[in-house]
Order: sequence, then structure tokens, then C-alpha cells
Amino acid sequence: MSEQLFVCNKCGNYTPLVQKSDRLPDNVEHHYAECQSCGYRSTFFYTNPKIKALLNQQKNTPFLTKKKERLTKEIKKHMDELRNKIESE
Ligand SMILES: [Zn+2]
Repeated sequence: MSEQLFVCNKCGNYTPLVQKSDRLPDNVEHHYAECQSCGYRSTFFYTNPKIKALLNQQKNTPFLTKKKERLTKEIKKHMDELRNKIESE
């Protein structure tokens, strides 16, 4: 079994990629990887019910369609907005 490793932004050590998630207020979920050496959390993305609904819609949309493309852009936009909002607080 090969473990996926990534370099921690904080301590610079290689650490196994363990994806975790936490529940934040307002039904927001924080998805991140936690460094095994220093405990630093590298954020993958945040979701909320609206983004989850979009992700679900995207999953059920065939590849290489305009709709899929539009949903992907929309999800990215919402995720970026949510992340900016949370990280600026
Ligand atoms: Zn670290």
C-alpha cells in the first residue's frame, strides 16, 4: 500500500495525506489534511449546504457538457467566497 505524502506548509516535513473534516457553525464543513508532525491543517475546501447541493448536481451531470462546466465554475466561485469569508474572520 502506498501512502500519499504532501509537504506541510508550516514545518516542511513530509506527512501522510489524511483527509479530515470538521463541522463549523452555519452548517459549514471544513475539509483539510492534518500534518502528523506539527498538527498544522492544510485546507482543501469548505462546503455549505448550497455548495453540497451543487456538488451533488454536478456529480449527476454527464461529463463534457456545458452544464457540468457551468456547475464546476459555480462551485469553485462559491467555495472561494466561503473560504475568503471564513479566513478573513
Ligand atoms: Zn507540519
